Amino acid sequence: PVIVQLESITKQFNRAAAPAIAQVSLSLQQGEILSLLGPSGCGKTTLLRLVAGFEKPQQGSIEIAGQPVAGNGIWVPPEKRDVGIVFQDYALFPHLSVGDNIAFGLQQSKSISKDSIQKRIQEALALVRLEGLQKRYPHELSGGQQQRVALARALAPQPALILLDEPLSNLDVQVRLQLREEIRRILKDSGTSAIFVTHDQEEALCISDRVGVMQQGKLEQLGSPEAIYTEPATRFVAEFVSQANFIRAHRRGQFWETELGQFPITSPLEGEQADLMIREEAIILQADETGVATIRDRTFLGREHRYRIQTASGEYLNVRTPTSAPLAVGTRVLLSVRDRKVRVFPTN
Ligand code: ADP
Ligand code: MG
Repeated sequence: PVIVQLESITKQFNRAAAPAIAQVSLSLQQGEILSLLGPSGCGKTTLLRLVAGFEKPQQGSIEIAGQPVAGNGIWVPPEKRDVGIVFQDYALFPHLSVGDNIAFGLQQSKSISKDSIQKRIQEALALVRLEGLQKRYPHELSGGQQQRVALARALAPQPALILLDEPLSNLDVQVRLQLREEIRRILKDSGTSAIFVTHDQEEALCISDRVGVMQQGKLEQLGSPEAIYTEPATRFVAEFVSQANFIRAHRRGQFWETELGQFPITSPLEGEQADLMIREEAIILQADETGVATIRDRTFLGREHRYRIQTASGEYLNVRTPTSAPLAVGTRVLLSVRDRKVRVFPTN
């Protein structure tokens, strides 16, 4: 079943020139994790606040778990939407213990007995792996633990939907990587449907079932992490989701002619020239004295090296390869491309 349905949502703030959200439609299936990915200011938080009920759309409608909550003259306030929320800054009550923080959400929502509250607190703490910390206060916890409490608090009432607004961005990188795996496990274990907002493409790709890429209030593309990565619909998506090279191509019969060889023209794209997207890991380097490209720089990324290559025409390309037998800066190389199927974009 569908848990969230957004139909052509538009939100314009007073005095703003452009709408913060422009005609966004999407639906979320039960148990699905959807990421909203985009640069700062593109409207991610606004879209989440519209779903939560902290903002009213000017146009369009929203349904949660089959119930209309906004649009067509309907308005359901946030506390009646059966939605849990986790913010970037944890937003725990500092004067309440961990247990009482979690209980707060439970008492707010449905009428529920003291015994079941205790049981739910224990279940929620177990889910986020914080058993035994019920009596602690927020200031006695690390950032990662505080965010786990915030997650437990949001999950304890067993909401139809949970909304997470950049929940990992205040954490150290180690904790962030660990917690992002765990958030996925926790959501999947509890069968909770979720919308996860982030500006970090790697985080979006690895945490979610589907990714919605946003730019300037619009949903540019919605698809599986694999589809977003390998078949970006627009140049913006290609560049935002992962660093990509764009090489100039000229039409020659059935082929695009480029510095890296020929690629078959597969769609009836207009125009005599185009830019082909080539991922950094799709280029093969081969040291060769007759090579017309030169390695200008090399950086070590752990599992991979990234090379900055200057081609014969003076263009720069980035290439990533596994770290065995690295090539030295200054080496002349031959370049080839692993895959003949490449994405084609209009030149800009
Ligand atoms: P993101 O979360 O992707 O960084 P936001 O949703 O916070 O983006 O903001 C989207 C746009 O809406 C920005 O241009 C922002 O300045 C504007 N905006 C957000 N909230 C308000 C508000 N309450 N009043 C006016 N403009 C706002
Ligand atoms: Mg935001």
